[in-house]
Amino acid sequence: MATAFITGSARGIGAAIALRLAKDGFNIALNDISEAMFEDNDIMEKIKAEGVECEKFICDVSSFADSEKTVKAIKERFGSIDVLVNNAGITRDGLLARMSEEQYDMVVAVNQKSVFNMSKFVGNIMMRQRSGRIINLASVAGVYGNAGQMNYSATKAAIIGMTKTVAKELGSRGVTCNAVAPGFIKTPMTDKLTEEQKNMMLGQIAMKRFGDVDDIAGVVSFLASKDAGYVTGQVIEISGGIMM
Ligand code: NAP
Repeated sequence: MATAFITGSARGIGAAIALRLAKDGFNIALNDISEAMFEDNDIMEKIKAEGVECEKFICDVSSFADSEKTVKAIKERFGSIDVLVNNAGITRDGLLARMSEEQYDMVVAVNQKSVFNMSKFVGNIMMRQRSGRIINLASVAGVYGNAGQMNYSATKAAIIGMTKTVAKELGSRGVTCNAVAPGFIKTPMTDKLTEEQKNMMLGQIAMKRFGDVDDIAGVVSFLASKDAGYVTGQVIEISGGIMM
């Protein structure tokens, strides 16, 4: 049975993607930065109820050394890694004039360096397998920019460049790499925004509703499926039409 590894998957979009890929028949390697993230949720039980195997691997994906160890452990446990979803991400918002060096560096480490780490280690396995799917979580903030998110939008734009580069480097080995760029999706990450910010966003969305985690999981499921075998280097916006 094929295996999917989803980073930052204890909750939010990552957990929804993990559950959807379990429904699609993948064994699931979950990940989050601490054990505590799994304590008050039932994501593992829900995945196992789909009749697939599931294990969690605690790792800070911004660490090169920990990422290497984790990928090795997943390969040993499941035998292969067929789908990698680089989902883990954080925000540390602030206007440029007030943003600290620490805020900037932390977001770059977690959102961007993690994609380098995991794509490198999992990509090596996929190249040897001569097959694999890498799916990266970008954002509309990386395409259009977003006031108060210089750090975040930089990482999400970088992920788009990384996606196209990986697609070009690994394509001849049967490995595809694509990105999804969500708009405003209801998760703990976006719960932090003020009502004013939320209303402003809503006004810009053609479909006049915020997205749901399953709106993202469905597109990731397609990109991981046989039907998407000839799709690579693409960025699919899932935003209800925020900008067109
Ligand atoms: P979320 O609810 O905050 O979930 C992200 C998960 O990643 C959390 O469980 C988080 O743990 C974990 N994580 C953070 N740092 C990590 C690290 N160093 N190593 C391993 N795991 C780590 O976020 P989300 O809204 O589901 O977002 C998922 C992805 O979609 C992110 O890449 C985000 O940028 C992208 N996205 C989201 C939206 C949106 O509207 N929600 C829009 C565009 C793009 P902690 O809670 O401990 O930090």
